[in-house]
Amino acid sequence: MDIENYIEKAAELVYRSQSVVVFTGAGVSTESGIPDFRSPGGVWSRYDPEDFTYQRFVSSQEARRKHWIMIGEIFAKEYEPNPAHYAIAEMDRLGKLDCIITQNVDNLHQKAGVSVEKVFELHGNTMWIKCLSCGRRYPMGEVKKRLGKGEEIPDCLECHGILKPDGVFFGEALPQKVLNDSIFHAQHCDLCIVVGSTLVVYPAAYMPVYAVQAGAKLIIVNMSDTPMDHSADVLLMGKAGEILPQMVERVKSKLSQNKTE
Ligand code: NAD
Repeated sequence: MDIENYIEKAAELVYRSQSVVVFTGAGVSTESGIPDFRSPGGVWSRYDPEDFTYQRFVSSQEARRKHWIMIGEIFAKEYEPNPAHYAIAEMDRLGKLDCIITQNVDNLHQKAGVSVEKVFELHGNTMWIKCLSCGRRYPMGEVKKRLGKGEEIPDCLECHGILKPDGVFFGEALPQKVLNDSIFHAQHCDLCIVVGSTLVVYPAAYMPVYAVQAGAKLIIVNMSDTPMDHSADVLLMGKAGEILPQMVERVKSKLSQNKTE
């Protein structure tokens, strides 16, 4: 079967589903210019993940310095949603999206037009920076300006506490309510679509497992193998920004055909 047939098969699954959960990873945002972690040239080919644990961040000035260099590098510019984010937002407008469960911290699903209540951010959102002492929150843009002026390790303007991006670091607990809600939605969907994830970061990667165990169909859109490929009803190897718009276009025409019949 060629890719067109697989896309058609995926579109048919979406069309027939009542409750679709889209599970996204860093790969949905690479076409917006944000590098993922594990692809060649990704973040972990330039930085050592060992330096980026929560424990290292809070206990070592040097780890914080490296972290802010990485943040300065990754968030040097404003990122915009790409056709994959817009295709997922279009599924929502078509009444075909229960929710998005994302590992991403980049806010791009919301920027593409999906309402905040429908986006479960398992690893937080790096658009905000939080003081670990007094809890004051700063928009990323504000802290980026300070980095741009030469501050290496910005601290809280109020109490001089440690400032930490509000994303979940290695070794840090996931936000409990978001995790519980995500598990609930994964276990109650009838179709789960994985987009751009290696599915090796846990507990996030359990979400499609919960969905499949509860009887949902599974579509995977990714550029490399995942441990769940064998469970997929449709496996679409390729760029999310090319595949998802085609799939959603087909769903759209199936829905409008159905209306006119
Ligand atoms: P990962 O880096 O482990 O894997 C990304 C996957 O996406 C790979 O399998 C790759 O082949 C695939 N991919 C890359 N570009 C793609 C494209 N255009 N279309 C389809 N697939 C594509 O990412 P992960 O599984 O999300 O785990 C990494 C962790 O890093 C996550 O926990 C996440 O919080 C964090 N992260 C987030 C961002 C972000 O917010 N944009 C960026 C980097 C890392």
